[in-house]
Amino acid sequence: MSSHAPPPTPADAPPEAPPAASHDVLIVGGGLVGASLAIALDLALGRSGLDVALLEAAPAGALPAVFDQRNLSLAEASVNALRTLGVMPRLRTPTGAIRRIHISRSGDFGRVRLEAAEHGRDSFGQVVVARDFGEALEATLASLPRLRRYRPARFLGFAAHGNDRRVARVATDAGESRIAARLVVAADGTASAVRDALGIATQHHDYDQTLFVARVRGERAPDGTAWERLTDHGPTAVLPRGDGHYGVIHGVARDEADAVAALDDAAFLVRLQQAFGWRAGRFLDVGPRNAYPMQRVLAERTIAPRAVLVGNAAQTLHPIGAQGFNLGLRDALTLVECIEDAQARGGDIGGADTLAAWAARRREDRERTLAFSDGLARTTANPSALAATMRGLGLFALDHDAALRARVVGGAMGYRGDVPRLCRGEAA
Ligand SMILES: Cc1cc2nc3c(=O)[nH]c(=O)nc-3n(C[C@H](O)[C@H](O)[C@H](O)COP(=O)(O)OP(=O)(O)OC[C@H]3O[C@@H](n4cnc5c(N)ncnc54)[C@H](O)[C@@H]3O)c2cc1C
Repeated sequence: MSSHAPPPTPADAPPEAPPAASHDVLIVGGGLVGASLAIALDLALGRSGLDVALLEAAPAGALPAVFDQRNLSLAEASVNALRTLGVMPRLRTPTGAIRRIHISRSGDFGRVRLEAAEHGRDSFGQVVVARDFGEALEATLASLPRLRRYRPARFLGFAAHGNDRRVARVATDAGESRIAARLVVAADGTASAVRDALGIATQHHDYDQTLFVARVRGERAPDGTAWERLTDHGPTAVLPRGDGHYGVIHGVARDEADAVAALDDAAFLVRLQQAFGWRAGRFLDVGPRNAYPMQRVLAERTIAPRAVLVGNAAQTLHPIGAQGFNLGLRDALTLVECIEDAQARGGDIGGADTLAAWAARRREDRERTLAFSDGLARTTANPSALAATMRGLGLFALDHDAALRARVVGGAMGYRGDVPRLCRGEAA
């Protein structure tokens, strides 16, 4: 693991130029978490007159690049919230319900099968394609007349500011301008420029794996099972999409990644079938593949004066446990509740008390979710005999101990720590 401290960023612009605009909340980054936060703030706080702005580097009319072909497993808690926020009903493609989860590892004796019905649920969550999800978020954002949107607009750094607000320096098509806010939310992803400008260091860990993501058609249609097959070089997951295809994630050792990228479709399917086996029948054809080098990036702090880090800017996880966006959404929804609380007591929405209360509420979920995802990524990729035995015992215990299963399932469905109201299915 390595630690990276950004170079100190001075308040590097002369203080005399006044901001072009001033808002209560400025969200930097309109990706999965930033867009969801803007929608949730509008729903919860619209009537209070809070003035919210969303800054995004991608131009109007183009979805940010993160809305690609990756398949996202949305935990039940996230689905609850996104339904109330009006995003789920705007999805144009059907979602794939995850009714059971099957986990096994090549070479180990353990395997586990989790049934949603056993936990009184119809499903554990839903699979959506990031591109479809991005379009549904965009349609929802477009329906919010109060939200001020800046795009294309790139956050550059902070200018000198007083104690009651921050001033962001922003590059737009018209040149550089300044935007002031009582609270700046960094939702600008793994390489967060806001985090760097705040001088917040990060811890990096490279998993030495590359994940290939693709849509695959099989001779059998998905039956609601999400399969996770673990190997020495990462997971191969086969997810039930709603369009009759499988969403496939295939992890390979980094030094094999170029060779796998060079495979033609037929050779890639043979490789996939070898890694995964025949549980879902024969794979027939594969769509375009995207590749992602796997790393974990953790911010050492998630708050600073008048600023807060959410989503990948705060923590970028290995996708093995399908937790990254689910966790980031809970960061965002908890922030909305803390801002509401501050308003209700006549407090300062960007003040130190408000941000400390948010960080305290997020601690348990963040720590437990990080430990779960990282533990899964590291132990499943460890080929030693001892690790194999421990894994076998772990999977065996999970398969045979109903209380343990209920705890693991509850966490994976997004119910860890202090759960935001919308995730529990309560009204905004
Ligand atoms: C292969 C793969 C599979 C995954 N599967 C799952 C899953 O099943 N479930 C799950 O919960 N998560 C999953 N994830 C994780 C999920 O994609 C991330 O957690 C999520 O994208 C984080 O959202 P974010 O908004 O924090 O960051 P991003 O989505 O990266 O958005 C950041 C946004 O900020 C903008 N931006 C960046 N810099 C600036 C700047 N200087 N100025 C203005 N704007 C800027 C970008 O254009 C972008 O729109 C997966 C990830 C991968 C790679």
